[in-house]
Amino acid sequence: MTDTALSKVAIIGIGLIGASVALAARHRKSDCHIALYDRDEAVRKTAQGLNIGDEICADSAACVADADLVILAVPVGAMKAVMSKIKSHLKQGAIITDTGSTKRSVIRDIGPLIPDNCHLIAGHPLAGTEFSGPEAGFPSLFEGRYWLIIPGEAPQEKVSQLEQFLSALGAMTEQMDAEYHDRVLALTSHLPHLIAYTIVGTATDLEQDLKNDVIRFSASGFRDFTRIAASDPVMWRDVFINNDEAILEMLQRFNEDLSYLQRAIRWKEGDKLFELFSRTRDIRRSIIDAGQDS
Ligand code: NAP
Repeated sequence: MTDTALSKVAIIGIGLIGASVALAARHRKSDCHIALYDRDEAVRKTAQGLNIGDEICADSAACVADADLVILAVPVGAMKAVMSKIKSHLKQGAIITDTGSTKRSVIRDIGPLIPDNCHLIAGHPLAGTEFSGPEAGFPSLFEGRYWLIIPGEAPQEKVSQLEQFLSALGAMTEQMDAEYHDRVLALTSHLPHLIAYTIVGTATDLEQDLKNDVIRFSASGFRDFTRIAASDPVMWRDVFINNDEAILEMLQRFNEDLSYLQRAIRWKEGDKLFELFSRTRDIRRSIIDAGQDS
């Protein structure tokens, strides 16, 4: 791992993402000291047992003390409470970043709490699984994945330090505006999760016999939806509540496109279906070509 000029990195929240950052840093021979904190004692014990990071702290203040980089890896609805607890214990000049799936809400919630001598650079790794908790973490999670960052007012030197650290985890960083981030992610991530939650929810509402057979004869389409719909309920509740505007906008467009398909099926307009399915197949090919398919 290249020298990032960061001596200590503090991670708050030892779930899939927080644990994976620590494991990736260790795996790639980072020389930073990695301290972690989670509010749940059982999680802290598990992380200790799994040998995640260099130090598991019993409180968030001790965790962030002297840290050059603080990474908030908690659900987006918890960011403000965490920031309120740590704000008076931050090192002068520290970079504060997060891994939250929504960006405008995080900047709105924690931006005003950042001390004058610290620098907020919000972030979002486009990497994850449907699993949560420290046991779910693995060191290659970010390899070849985008990690979007919102530099805001942070000095270039701090932005470069963060980018270097994230690149050393294997991620590809890209700078983005928070509003644009939320609109793009509403379509590429949040809406697909909403659709999966809906389809699996519909299946659970079917009468018992039908429901049993849906599960028994579950074909790959439904199976894929159940995987997505198994994602952490707290994390996703917070995402929908905190990116409501962009999600509702995309949902409106989605409903219009669904009505178009409904009509094409009703009137047996096979050409319309064929044209759409051909276009969507091309999108799949371009995702594979970009190496972002798994
Ligand atoms: P996770 O596995 O559920 O872990 C989150 C951890 O944070 C849990 O151990 C939770 O403890 C802890 N936590 C919650 N509130 C806290 C607080 N106030 N103080 C300290 N710890 C607290 O979640 P994750 O998947 O790692 O996600 C973390 C963040 O990354 C979220 O903002 C999410 O939107 C984002 N993200 C997730 C993915 C993904 O695929 N999972 C991908 C990209 C970004 P409790 O169990 O006690 O609540």
